[in-house]
Amino acid sequence: MQLSWRRDSIVPVGLAVAVTIATALPATRYMTGLQFDQLAGRAENTLGLAVSALRGELARYENLPALIAQHDSIRALVRDPGNGPLADQVNRELEAINALLGSSVIYAMLPDGTTVAASNHGAPDSFVGGNFAYRPYFSDALAGGEGRFFALGTTSLKRGYYFGAPIREAGRITGVLVFKVDIDPIEMTWKGADYGIVVTDPEGIIFMSDRAEWTYAAIEALTEERLARTAETRRYAETELRELPVTRGQGPGGHLLMTVPEPQGRTEYLALTEAMPEMDWTVKVLMQTRPARIQALIAVAALLSLFWVAVLIWLSLQQRRRRFEERLAVQREAQETLERRVGERTADLAEVNRRLEEEVIERRATERELRKTQSDLVQAGKLAALGQMSAALSHEFNQPLGAVRAYAENAGILLERGRIDEAQQNLADISALVERMDVLGRHLRNFARMPNTELQTVALEQVIRDTRPIIAPRLRAAGVELETEIGDGDHDGPLLVRAGPVRLQQVLVNIISNAADAVEGRPDPRIRLTARRRGDRVTVAVRDNGPGVAPGIAARIFDPFFTTKGVGKGLGLGLSISYNIVKDFGGSLHLSSPDGGGAEMLLELPAATARDLPEAAE
Ligand code: ADP
Repeated sequence: MQLSWRRDSIVPVGLAVAVTIATALPATRYMTGLQFDQLAGRAENTLGLAVSALRGELARYENLPALIAQHDSIRALVRDPGNGPLADQVNRELEAINALLGSSVIYAMLPDGTTVAASNHGAPDSFVGGNFAYRPYFSDALAGGEGRFFALGTTSLKRGYYFGAPIREAGRITGVLVFKVDIDPIEMTWKGADYGIVVTDPEGIIFMSDRAEWTYAAIEALTEERLARTAETRRYAETELRELPVTRGQGPGGHLLMTVPEPQGRTEYLALTEAMPEMDWTVKVLMQTRPARIQALIAVAALLSLFWVAVLIWLSLQQRRRRFEERLAVQREAQETLERRVGERTADLAEVNRRLEEEVIERRATERELRKTQSDLVQAGKLAALGQMSAALSHEFNQPLGAVRAYAENAGILLERGRIDEAQQNLADISALVERMDVLGRHLRNFARMPNTELQTVALEQVIRDTRPIIAPRLRAAGVELETEIGDGDHDGPLLVRAGPVRLQQVLVNIISNAADAVEGRPDPRIRLTARRRGDRVTVAVRDNGPGVAPGIAARIFDPFFTTKGVGKGLGLGLSISYNIVKDFGGSLHLSSPDGGGAEMLLELPAATARDLPEAAE
């Protein structure tokens, strides 16, 4: 967990430290109390078991002395102590019983305390002859009670529990039988346990313990009275008694604690005590408190660790949350900036858009204006053309009409005068003029042609053949021959074009007539027509060796009513009509000025193939 400390983390961390400091001690005390309670529970069990084991062990022997005291031979011996053989017999019997019961030693005493027979009669420390009148078990038994005493054997120097029973003879007490039980085996069972057991006498002197070094040490102060009382019964024979400098205290949970100095240092024990009044014993179970204290410390440490882990996790989460919020704030700010910018841009765009719209509106208005101006101009042009045409028409018609009137008036006068021939000539002239006006009218009709009339596939040679008779008088008058050179169409078939045959004929008549006009009166006049296929086009060129077209008027020769020919000769409509007809065919007509003089009209038409060939009709 990575934590970068911030100022706002200091307060919670400080609080957590304070909580740790404030709770560590009470928590330790509390946990120690709990551990001590557990320890005390175990001590209580142990103590109960130890006490019942002790009781059980000694209870086994309790009634045996009284039983043995009733033995006849023993009774006889205390009656007659000087009887050596009897003494031997009793010695042997006691030895046998002792061996049988597993006790330490059994012996019989006279009322003065002298031992007359003993199970250890053969041993160097034999009790026989010894006097143990100072022992309370003797005095108690002699008084008719039960003699009970625990002590270190003055002769054997072995600790034991003594049971004394009176030997009775006819209601009198004639001696005391003593039965000593060795307590070492009991003590042996305590060794190696993880707890300590001490048994103290009424003076607080340890009589039994699982620790050999504690035996004969007093856990109470060894006062004069205590020492005197102990010396009186010679309970511990000649053993030197010492004090164990025990410190008593009260642990958590009110448990009694005893601290004992030991070679490895002072050791603290939790002590549980039970009195065994029937034996004048106090049994203590001592449990080392160290493991419990360590357990308590570990538990507190674990709890505090948990607490700190929780605190650190909480801090980390807080920081993460804070970082997240900061990031959100930054994002929000970025978003707002972006939105603001987008808003600004949108406003800019809207402004630009608005201006564009305005411009578009302005443009449209301008365009409308332009169109209107254009249409006005067209209208004006049309009117001008119409005016021009009207002027030309009136000019063209007025002259023959004037001539017709003059001829008619003249014819009238000639008829009056009887000059019939002349009058007839005049009428013929009138007829010629009317004819000319009819031709003019027919030409004008061509302006009202139908440009979209369906086209056909036409054999060019045929059209030229049909044209020849029409232009023959004109060519003859000009003294010229028409030379033709017509190429092949596709697959060596006739040269075919898309056109209307009559209109194409009209175009050719116009062009050839113009050429004839140009060469008329010139020496060696020549007109040559060549037709050739070039890809999907067919080019028809009509060249003459006339004066050619002056560059200044070349751009105007296709305009209607443009003519350089004199009045009554040219109408100025031939090329203009031809131009429009050729355009209707999808072709073109233009003038080229070839080297070597003369003029050449180039007629370009869309080529057709034999497949498209129907029977021509227009
Ligand atoms: P028109 O023949 O009645 O004058 P066109 O429109 O046919 O009218 O011809 C216009 C003019 O073009 C002619 O007046 C003439 O000046 C000129 N032009 C046409 N063809 C030729 C040509 N082959 N050589 C010289 N000038 C020509």
